[in-house]
Amino acid sequence: MLSVDLIIFGASGDLSARKLFPALFQLERLNLLENDVRIAAVARTDQTLDAFLPTLSSKMSSYMGNDAPSDAEWENFTRRFSYVSVNFSEPDKYAGLREWLDDDRISLFYFATPPSLFAPICEHLSQTNCLAGDCRIVVEKPIGESLASSVQVNETLAKYFDEKSIYRIDHYLGKETVQNLLVLRFANSFINSQWDNTCIDHVQITVGEMVGIEGRWSYYDKVGQLRDMVQNHLMQLMCLVAMEPPNSLEAESIRDEKVKIVRALRRIDEQSVEERVVRGQYTNGWIEGAAVPGYLDEEGCAHETSDTETYIAIKAHIDNWRWSGVPFYLRTGKRLPEKVTEIVIQYKSLPHNIFGEDANIPNKLVIRLQPNEGIELSMVSKRQSLKERMALQAHPLNLDFREGSDMDRIPDAYERLFLDAINGDQSLFVGRDEIEESWRWVDQLISACQKRKVEARPYYAGSWGPAKAEVLIEKDFRSWHV
Ligand code: NDP
Repeated sequence: MLSVDLIIFGASGDLSARKLFPALFQLERLNLLENDVRIAAVARTDQTLDAFLPTLSSKMSSYMGNDAPSDAEWENFTRRFSYVSVNFSEPDKYAGLREWLDDDRISLFYFATPPSLFAPICEHLSQTNCLAGDCRIVVEKPIGESLASSVQVNETLAKYFDEKSIYRIDHYLGKETVQNLLVLRFANSFINSQWDNTCIDHVQITVGEMVGIEGRWSYYDKVGQLRDMVQNHLMQLMCLVAMEPPNSLEAESIRDEKVKIVRALRRIDEQSVEERVVRGQYTNGWIEGAAVPGYLDEEGCAHETSDTETYIAIKAHIDNWRWSGVPFYLRTGKRLPEKVTEIVIQYKSLPHNIFGEDANIPNKLVIRLQPNEGIELSMVSKRQSLKERMALQAHPLNLDFREGSDMDRIPDAYERLFLDAINGDQSLFVGRDEIEESWRWVDQLISACQKRKVEARPYYAGSWGPAKAEVLIEKDFRSWHV
């Protein structure tokens, strides 16, 4: 097998220090990086490796806390490093990189840069003969902001790389719990046989953030929560919950099944949008006891008004045999009271309960990605008591991933994804047609909202979104899990 070189474009950026280098370091610590893997940190500033490393080290230490590398580990890790200065927009600045590359090895280019640079980087890599060897490319979201722009990005990438060499990251897919969802569904016969509209009442997917827009007002105001979170992360989670069993773990089998779900998603049109979509925008409020500004008072806000949503709730339907009649409620927002990402599968109530209607507590399977990754199945059991004859309670059965594991921590998603990209396994990366199909659905939703003037309703920072989001689910005699 060929040896691999990692070339990180945007090595001085936030993503690199927060996620990419810490993930690579953890792989090093676990002896999962082959000895001869080389790492090129590529960034604009003209400086030496000796000048670059201390800054990286201090940023990584602040993100990694107690898990940060010791001096000896740092020295061992950074023996792999070179620093290459390139201004990505200028073709004549790629000579140093060309010199560093070795065409007898696999070059894995990681684009941790603004998406506007993807096209110029590809073009200049090609012009300067940097793509002469066996190359792969990893790209971060967002892949476009609409169907048209995502097609444009994908077309550009396809000019220089074949689909098998393009690794589109949705880091949610690298999370242990998400991989465990596949195992739970397809390796447990009792779960697998109860995974359809005969047993499941509805599904909820919640991605709640406590943060606001973190100084990114001008970027965020053009995008909003639907494009920033639903089109990628929530849609990917929904696909993994809903897809048919793939015939193998090969990337193509998994992607084929996921894209069928996106295609089966019922379009949200002008007639149904008011019934099925709630948009919101936070006003000032309180998060963990501290006052926080509203969206329009955030630093960098350039307008007096804005209709950009910082919250969205959607009632989605998958029109296929398995899921007919089972709504998928999706919601995500900023400045919510908890940082939480979870999928809740709520089973149907029993048709008749011999313990009385009050005791009719439906089973729930909660798949939590954060905080505390894990899976919990709520079962009903008898409360131990002599006073009460037959008091029932919901009782969680917890799956603790760490049990039986050789690790004392849950690995970060980027560790899995780097390892897979190095090993050429695309199954946890997103295919082109999945991205484009999901943009098609999102574009139609946006257009329906605009035509029907479904405006972003105010909600207090620190609340669970606009009151209408409660109505969205409660009118179906259901309620949000948290
Ligand atoms: P930053 O702005 O922090 O970093 C961008 C990097 O690109 C810097 O290293 C910058 O170098 C470099 N760069 C920009 N323009 C040029 C140029 N012309 N020539 C050479 N280098 C250049 O961005 P992030 O790290 O936050 O994000 C990178 C990508 O990852 C974005 O697409 C973002 O959407 C995505 N992403 C980020 C996440 C995060 O947590 N930060 C999470 C998920 C996705 P210099 O320092 O010299 O300007």
